[in-house]
Amino acid sequence: MKEDLASYAINPITSRGRFVPEEESKGRTNFQRDRDRIIHSSAFRKLMHKTQVFLSHEGDLFRTRLTHSIEVAQIARVISRRLNLNEDLTEALCLAHDLGHTPFGHAGQHALNRCLRKLDSKSCGFEHNIQSLRIVDKLECKYFNFDGLNLCFETREGILKHCSKLAAKKLGDVAERFLCGGFPTLEAQLVNIADEIAYNHHDLDDGLRSGLLDFEEVVELEAVKSNFLKVERAYPYESTSFEAGEYQSRRQSEVIRRMINVQIEDLVTNTKKKIVESAVSTVDEVRNYEKLLVGFSDEMQNFVKELKFFLHEKLYKHTVVMGMTSAAEIIIADLFKVLLDKSVEQNGEPCLRSTADSIAAMTDRTAALTHLRYFPNKVIWPREVYFT
Ligand code: MG
Repeated sequence: MKEDLASYAINPITSRGRFVPEEESKGRTNFQRDRDRIIHSSAFRKLMHKTQVFLSHEGDLFRTRLTHSIEVAQIARVISRRLNLNEDLTEALCLAHDLGHTPFGHAGQHALNRCLRKLDSKSCGFEHNIQSLRIVDKLECKYFNFDGLNLCFETREGILKHCSKLAAKKLGDVAERFLCGGFPTLEAQLVNIADEIAYNHHDLDDGLRSGLLDFEEVVELEAVKSNFLKVERAYPYESTSFEAGEYQSRRQSEVIRRMINVQIEDLVTNTKKKIVESAVSTVDEVRNYEKLLVGFSDEMQNFVKELKFFLHEKLYKHTVVMGMTSAAEIIIADLFKVLLDKSVEQNGEPCLRSTADSIAAMTDRTAALTHLRYFPNKVIWPREVYFT
């Protein structure tokens, strides 16, 4: 832990602790121990084979949920240190934030949510955030003395970014702010924005690499334009010895690298300013302050909004990406039906939540293989995708 931890940062010494009390770890703070438990979990390893935007067969270089989580952690740790926040808690939250994702990204989540709600109108449905908490609280079974990872309250609370009132009532103190109001810790606020910085930039990078996005269109975006011009001025094509393709690839990396730096600088400067203006000096004051304190300047916020809109329209809604989306939805819905029937055979009644747990825990590859086993004649996408 840094010695100059701010008074409004989470201090491991005053943590609200774990469900099951444990002896302190030698040489690690409570949050370093939480981080290590997350890294050693099965759910964390499975992120390697879960989709971010592009399915893994589409190329070796595209981000997966695992590399996304590591990029979020890298960005958030840098900012956390500069704001004198708790870097260990920040890192633990980043590495855990996507543990609950289904196979096939958001398409998988939507399909699973629909399956649950269709059969039970009172169901909280499926939300990957709540599932991340469910994994660390219940589903990882590695210890003799408890189910889950027995993480500290602050880590569990920070994992829960969104939550409906209905779900909050079932979750207890960790979801209190969704019922009584208030804001998350600065570490949790930061992870939320670092997540956004990471995916906006790596999706842009992957989108360009895949050829689905057009560089000429991308450089017109405000968040890109000035960085692009600086790179063009510093490294004009004629001044380098690179072939055109190599030059473009290096230029793309350089522009995106600079964009990330500019956003981090803006976030650090603006957040420091907001913290000073708010005069918060304790974690409770952060929780009870009138608004979020970690954020971009208004100008940068507009740039980010434009970039997000562009990615949404040109990448996430691209026919190639959407094609994968509909295939994923069919797979998840089919699997849900089969596994739910199996749960009736085994237990005499349908077990909706445990069926959803089993499907959410699958990697893309396992989901596709399981589907092929149950529906050998239903070709969703080219078989060689998963079976070569
Ligand atoms: Mg994420």
